[in-house]
Amino acid sequence: MTSFAERFPEISDIRVKVFSVRGAIAPRTPFREFGFSVPEYVECSNPRCKNGRFRIWPVIAMACSRVDVTFHKSSVCNGNERSRNPRIPCLYTFTIEGEITYKSNEPKPG
Ligand SMILES: [Zn+2]
Repeated sequence: MTSFAERFPEISDIRVKVFSVRGAIAPRTPFREFGFSVPEYVECSNPRCKNGRFRIWPVIAMACSRVDVTFHKSSVCNGNERSRNPRIPCLYTFTIEGEITYKSNEPKPG
């Protein structure tokens, strides 16, 4: 398994907030926050959701390819709600916001 540092050697620091909510993000919406050990994906926070997950690394890879220092992406959950009808989609939305520090942009010490 590839670690974050192996996958993104150009990143010296990162901060990512992940929201997984039904509806819009409010100022007090709870979120999960990750530092340098950002997982490859996060799971949906809907307790009834089955197989809902959001892959974070591809979003970071896209930001890296453009050397963006901030990124933001929203995506509807790809899971389904557990119910008798297996085709009810999960209505939660993942939103991620992040900031990246690149090694090439770090101030040189001294
Ligand atoms: Zn979901």
